[in-house]
Amino acid sequence: MLKGRIERNGTLTLIRAGFRTSPLCPRTGKHCGDWCPLFDQNGEPPAVSEMPNTFYVLRLCDAELALAEFKDEREWNETETKES
Ligand SMILES: [Zn+2]
Repeated sequence: MLKGRIERNGTLTLIRAGFRTSPLCPRTGKHCGDWCPLFDQNGEPPAVSEMPNTFYVLRLCDAELALAEFKDEREWNETETKES
């Protein structure tokens, strides 16, 4: 299963079978991250339920990824700061 995560610095990390990759963006030549057109939407990809699974559909530049899990570390760290 493919998982996705936005790191604190904004880079997109994909995790498949324990291996992490940061895809190169076909548009900018840099790694994909929150500077990509994708993030012009409001950050979090929409969750789509297809029984028995829920996917997060991430429209990423020239691809569309179905993620089993999605985590936004930027958001999480912000929340942690507020709560402490
Ligand atoms: Zn990109």
